[in-house]
Amino acid sequence: MTKHAKLSPSGSERWMNCPASIRMEEGLPDTSSVYAEEGTAAHEVAAICLEKELPASSQLGKVFNKCEVQSEGFKCDEEMADAVQQYIDHVNTFKGDAFFEKQVCVKPWVDEGFGHADVIKIYACDLDPLVVTVIDLKYGKGVMVEAQDNSQAGIYGLGVYNDYKDLFDFDDDTVFQLVIVMPRKDHITQWNLTLKELLEFGDRVKLAAKECENPEAAFDPGPKTCQWCKAKTTCKSLHDYNIKLAVEDFEEFDLSGEMKFKDPRKNSNDDISIILDNVDGITKWAKAIEAHALMELNAGHDIPNYKLVEGKKGDKKWKDEKEVVEIFETLFDIEEKELYGKPKILTPTKALALLGSMKLKKKDKDSVESLYSQTDGKPNIAHVSDRRIPIKPSVETDFETEYEGE
Ligand code: SF4
Repeated sequence: MTKHAKLSPSGSERWMNCPASIRMEEGLPDTSSVYAEEGTAAHEVAAICLEKELPASSQLGKVFNKCEVQSEGFKCDEEMADAVQQYIDHVNTFKGDAFFEKQVCVKPWVDEGFGHADVIKIYACDLDPLVVTVIDLKYGKGVMVEAQDNSQAGIYGLGVYNDYKDLFDFDDDTVFQLVIVMPRKDHITQWNLTLKELLEFGDRVKLAAKECENPEAAFDPGPKTCQWCKAKTTCKSLHDYNIKLAVEDFEEFDLSGEMKFKDPRKNSNDDISIILDNVDGITKWAKAIEAHALMELNAGHDIPNYKLVEGKKGDKKWKDEKEVVEIFETLFDIEEKELYGKPKILTPTKALALLGSMKLKKKDKDSVESLYSQTDGKPNIAHVSDRRIPIKPSVETDFETEYEGE
């Protein structure tokens, strides 16, 4: 399976739930983003360091993944080196024979199917069942990804079983540990299952892949299913799904008129939980529609009631600082020092970055910390899967007052 194969493991959350997406994506161009390509660069750094047993800091300043999206490539900076090191440290906690950056074949479940495992470790011990660990680095810091029941991780596990079953003694009790490391979100999760359970999952993959060949295959929109679908701006099922969810929160909804929100106090907390589950999907869908509309207008196509206008201009920038000083001095009698203004002290965050990876003694650390103040974070909302510890409600929120006049 190539990077953009139709039934790719990375798209399996979508095609296993919505087989119709295969025909909907047909012919739509593949696009990449600076974030995806930056992730590829981080994978390159990790692969070199794991293969050669080097610390990630050994790659600082080097450039990786020169690509179409960013022809100058991505420099391995402190943030990338720290994140990759966190990943390497976790990889090194697992025992076993190690294999890096392996393409694995999943043809028994998905025709012409291949996956790509960042790290495979296989640990054989006489007393215990074989333990197979498959580790995936996710460099992004946007969408949180969990390992439990993650179909992409499961498909990689199937591929490892397929390719290594003749080299190691697999049996029903062989343990598969499918691990996802998201260093920039400080999030590491693991899905443990036996080979028997993995093969049962494989049966579901096989059925879903077969259903994708059905020209009448059904749509099944949902926030996770649709988030990366290339057809999401034109898919009527997703449109209807989102509008239905949104309509339930409007008292009046009229495409040509003003939309009036329902008083949220009329929702039960169970209703609110369902709405929150979908807020992210609806927001992303709305943004994707906006981007699609801009593309249409840019192509000279009409969208009723909308037009193309120039957006906010960029910041003003001097073309030649020397010339600026000269002109201001001669024409307006304004001195050079006034033009440059007073130097400002760095913010605490930037100043702390200067200390970088220095190992500070406790007393030095304390004295630096005593130099700045920081207000506590305001209460925020997060899904239960978030690793932060819940805080006690402390503020008497006057909800009625806040909602009045909205
Ligand atoms: S947008 Fe969602 S419902 Fe529509 S085809 Fe894609 S995955 Fe299926």
